[in-house]
Amino acid sequence: MTETNWSHLWPKGKRAAFALSFDYDGETWFLQDPEPVSMSHARYAAQVGVPLLLEMLKREGLRTTFFVPLWTAQHHPDVIRAITGSGHEIGCHGDRHERLTELSLDQERDILRRSLDGLEALSGMRPVGYRAPYWKLSAHTLDLLREHGFRYSSNMMDHIVPYIHAGGPGDPLVELPVHWILDDAPFFNYPNRPIRSPREVLEIWNAEFLGLRARGGLCIVTCHPQLSARPSRVDMVRELVRFVRGHADVWCATLAEVADYWRSIGGGADRAMVVMA
Ligand SMILES: [Zn+2]
Repeated sequence: MTETNWSHLWPKGKRAAFALSFDYDGETWFLQDPEPVSMSHARYAAQVGVPLLLEMLKREGLRTTFFVPLWTAQHHPDVIRAITGSGHEIGCHGDRHERLTELSLDQERDILRRSLDGLEALSGMRPVGYRAPYWKLSAHTLDLLREHGFRYSSNMMDHIVPYIHAGGPGDPLVELPVHWILDDAPFFNYPNRPIRSPREVLEIWNAEFLGLRARGGLCIVTCHPQLSARPSRVDMVRELVRFVRGHADVWCATLAEVADYWRSIGGGADRAMVVMA
């Protein structure tokens, strides 16, 4: 029996892919109840967290993807410029981190348009990727992404390699699948969850990375600067990057680069397997 494996789909010499992503939500988590200490916790991201991450990423020579709500970008334009100025990608992530399922079609369209234009004006880079707040889409989201020229969505949890969303108008929309196991919130979002040690989380992520590498998967890790840019956790992310980099057969890229590559191969050699309805 042959084992299910997608390693042949990746660029020559590579058998899997890795991308580090950040959901830089900042103060939008607390806008409905802007209590000073909660707001200060969120502000840590702009004041200390993102700068520490950018420093570490520069030293490691890794480019990544930051999804940023428009509100956060507008209140911290210097941080946004530092992110794109360091060669990282910026993607859309709502305005005030609103739940898409509670919006009308017109409201959702308006937020998408404003966040595309606003992030472009602040960073000089027009976003091509979208990640929904809370990883929850409305019934309209995928069509709206195509309508606005997005090249990829990074929200679904139904695969371990990219695929192309079937149907709809416009250019193909690539899905870059994620999962909670590779997100920092389940491990660090105190007081909603108990605090876990960086060592334990690194062990979980390294193991999942190895599992994905063995099967030719795409490993997308998602961190929130207000959680994972605490000093001990920046060190943990650095250890993860070094562990991944120790495997020369893994392609490290931004999410936009992975999406463009996937479009260039037409959704994969075995379309039946990688094109989802
Ligand atoms: Zn978020």
